[in-house]
Amino acid sequence: MRQIAIYGKGGIGKSTTTQNLTASLSTMGNKIMLVGCDPKADSTRMLLGGLNQKTVLDTLRSEGDEGVDLDVVMQRGFGDIKCVESGGPEPGVGCAGRGIITSIGLLENLGAYTDDLDYVFYDVLGDVVCGGFAMPIREGKAKEIYIVASGELMAIYAANNICKGLAKFAKGGARLGGIICNSRNVDGERELLDAFAKKLGSHLIHFIPRDNIVQRAEINRKTVIDFDPESNQAKEYLTLAHNVQNNDKLVVPTPLPMEELEAMMVEFGIVDL
Ligand code: ADP
Ligand code: SF4
Ligand code: MG
Repeated sequence: MRQIAIYGKGGIGKSTTTQNLTASLSTMGNKIMLVGCDPKADSTRMLLGGLNQKTVLDTLRSEGDEGVDLDVVMQRGFGDIKCVESGGPEPGVGCAGRGIITSIGLLENLGAYTDDLDYVFYDVLGDVVCGGFAMPIREGKAKEIYIVASGELMAIYAANNICKGLAKFAKGGARLGGIICNSRNVDGERELLDAFAKKLGSHLIHFIPRDNIVQRAEINRKTVIDFDPESNQAKEYLTLAHNVQNNDKLVVPTPLPMEELEAMMVEFGIVDL
């Protein structure tokens, strides 16, 4: 069973990419569980035809420890993917990261991690790599990490920070599997992300173009794989899935010092100094 965490700045396209990636992997014959680890709890919606499912933490709060049943918090989605939303703490109270570990622990106790699973994916909020959101890495749950980024400064800045967190917890076995570029149509984006990934000691695992078919699929409450499997965008997600399936380049990343990151952005014409 490969346990994979997808990190990246908020709004960069983690949930879109993860759902299309898992949908693609399911069409390749894999058995998958996807655990949304974002208090927004929208990591599995397109796999479930738009369903906002009850989160583990909400159920825990309303029903107590004994009252959480797998049938309530885990729904089968497209490709028979097991879909779970961890949810968040009550606003203003508690630690979201700790909530993720509580959810994962509960899923383990309830027997959600069955031996037939090929993959478990975690879709994790990652603007800040605080102790809380680093939990899936720290606790050794996910050993393979992919970071979604684009050619925008803040996306790269966040990706570099995530690598700093990852490097810190590498002792637990966590490794970077690659950078996924989810394009924002920035000039020279592919070259920039390629260079950035190499500087990290990693690689650009795939470049996903920006395409409005993603929005059309979303309006129809589907992943692109489900909505239009013959489209170019679906083929890009399938290529990503093949690249992930065959990836054996797992590294402890070497994050860039701030000056080097800025120099790289200047070199590629993203920022002027
Ligand atoms: P995150 O999970 O990182 O917060 P989302 O996956 O929710 O981000 O993506 C935010 C929005 O960006 C989505 O509503 C989706 O419509 C759009 N989006 C993501 N990827 C693409 C893409 N490749 N092409 C077009 N739109 C995209
Ligand atoms: Fe929030 Fe992170 Fe602090 Fe937890 S550790 S309360 S997730 S900022
Ligand atoms: Mg998301």
